[in-house]
Amino acid sequence: MADTTAAIEEKLKDAHLPALLAALVHLTGETDWLQDAWKPTYNPLSRGDTGIPEAEQAKIRARAALVIAAHLAGKAPAAVQPDVTTLRRQMDFVAGAAIPEGYVDFLMDELALAGTSSKDPQFEAPALKAAARKLKVLVVGAGMSGLLTGIRLKQAGVAFEIVDKNPDVGGTWFENTYPGCRVDNSNHMYSYSFEPNHAWPQHFSPQPELLKYFQGVAAKHDLKKHIRFETLVEQVAWDDRAQLWRATLKGKDGRTETVEANAVVTAVGQLNRPRYPEIEGIGTFEGPAFHSAEWRHDVDLKGKRVAVIGTGASAYQFVPEIAPEVAQLTVFQRSPPWGLPVPHYHEDVPEGMKWTLEHVPLYDKWYRFWLFWMTTEGFLPMVKSDPSWNGSPDAVGPENAMLREMATQSLKAQVADRPDLAAKVIPTYPIGGKRSVLDNGVWLAALKRDNVELVTDKVTRITPNGVQTADGRTHEVDVLIYGTGFQAANFLSFLKIKGRGARDLHETWGGDARAYLGMTHPGFPNLFTIYGPNTNIVVNGSIIFFSECSVRYIVGSLKLLAETGAVAMEPKLSVYEDFNKRVDDANAGWAWGSPNVSSWYKNDFGRVSQNWPFGLIDYWRATLKPEPGDFELERAVEPVG
Ligand code: NAP
Repeated sequence: MADTTAAIEEKLKDAHLPALLAALVHLTGETDWLQDAWKPTYNPLSRGDTGIPEAEQAKIRARAALVIAAHLAGKAPAAVQPDVTTLRRQMDFVAGAAIPEGYVDFLMDELALAGTSSKDPQFEAPALKAAARKLKVLVVGAGMSGLLTGIRLKQAGVAFEIVDKNPDVGGTWFENTYPGCRVDNSNHMYSYSFEPNHAWPQHFSPQPELLKYFQGVAAKHDLKKHIRFETLVEQVAWDDRAQLWRATLKGKDGRTETVEANAVVTAVGQLNRPRYPEIEGIGTFEGPAFHSAEWRHDVDLKGKRVAVIGTGASAYQFVPEIAPEVAQLTVFQRSPPWGLPVPHYHEDVPEGMKWTLEHVPLYDKWYRFWLFWMTTEGFLPMVKSDPSWNGSPDAVGPENAMLREMATQSLKAQVADRPDLAAKVIPTYPIGGKRSVLDNGVWLAALKRDNVELVTDKVTRITPNGVQTADGRTHEVDVLIYGTGFQAANFLSFLKIKGRGARDLHETWGGDARAYLGMTHPGFPNLFTIYGPNTNIVVNGSIIFFSECSVRYIVGSLKLLAETGAVAMEPKLSVYEDFNKRVDDANAGWAWGSPNVSSWYKNDFGRVSQNWPFGLIDYWRATLKPEPGDFELERAVEPVG
């Protein structure tokens, strides 16, 4: 039965008003929905509140409900495409501030109102189609980036095979099943731009929902028939004469097989190999001991004495979940995480919001656009190092000091009744130096429990029955959990990669991984790495956006091969070196590059090998398409005789 206007009015109470008003412009062709007084105020921490008095909001909803009811009854158009001036007005309105002109093409592309974007493969020309059909691509990994690569290659008409060590798709969302695991990016943005999910149950949904989403996308695009599961790609080697890659695959049964491909795309992320700390005695613990990414669901924690080592993003999520069920929880902290207040971190998406996403044309796009713009710059300006800063070394500039103060006040307020904790949970490194966590109060509430102890003395040894600290105490426990992160700087450590002349990529890197735009490597033709060196983001954007840009560039690279008749491409050494110099110089200018900070963003040489040091827009522009002049293009070797 169709909803009554009154029922629609009720549902709209849950809608994000600025996005709804922008969507109504499409349904009515009228622009008086965009009144200045109804504009939200730009604030990356806000929920898009407009400050409109409730009585006026009710009038807006009543008028909107009539329009939407007419549309649902088939008496109004699905969507009007406004002129460019109106679109610009809509963007500024939803953003709550005038968007600088330089961002417009980037944002229009992300908004993709007509359903197409620069990220769609452009292989329509018959000659390109024919060339695409001759290619075969090997994709390593069936997680978020690998599935995306599969979808785009399929759309381009390029043959591909995806190989994954796991028995199912999902990558990190398949592997990390620890209690409380959830996304820390708004879900309506942390989803492929072309595959919205109107049914996200929460704004930051739990891991099973993310896994379900990626499984659903894989099914919708019929990808499983292209995926070889439970198979490890052990080695890829470029054959200089045949001008293609040969990959050695090892199945679950131990049998190996060699497959050939014109290009190899690695899509394994930066965070897929657990890191156990180098602590004396590790391995001697006699009870169950496991890493957060290899959670032992067979170990019942109820009534047990449990130790957790590490207080990063993973521990931050599982500690509050396990604290109520264990007898005693001892959390070993080396450095506390910074938290940014996000009260709705665990909240459900209201039913009216889901209904509006599903039924009001283009509302989903404008809502996503708002989320996207709020984090395009987001907190970036507040984590920039100011070279003239001569204040306290716990900040990198005046704006960073302001953000620090705001976050400190929020932390202090939560532990006002526990001065012992207050002294331990306020970080001494600059905010933005490491990944900040989203704070809705559950972390400190857990640490305040009677059965939880936060230990800040250095862990010196693991013993058969517990954890020893520098003060000489032994903390006896039954179960030991490592929340100690991943071997992030050890890019592709599981994979032997032999390029031109059998050159080894890991030897070339010498532990200091680099790439051009995170993706291509001199001496390693047609090798593309997604979420490779220097493509991680710290305080802004979503990594799905980065992967979409990378895949566009990779598919564009295949197109470049097809257009030029070349069979192989690799970046010029000078281009690669110049790019990496710019990256290193720029990374020094952010909180995470500060000498006072140590984190998984830096490798053993102290170089920031993980992070992208420029804006989202810069990655978007740099990856629109490969510049032919950046590459050595190699033509097919003529057969002898
Ligand atoms: P992490 O952020 O690297 O945290 C590791 C923790 O272990 C840190 O607190 C670290 O202390 C501590 N540690 C390491 N070695 C230690 C030792 N020998 N003794 C004592 N403590 C030690 O790892 P993670 O929490 O797994 O998160 C990694 C990344 O994954 C995050 O930054 C985030 O990008 C991503 N992630 C995302 C989500 C999400 O979106 N929902 C959830 C989890 C993780 P120090 O800080 O002093 O090094």
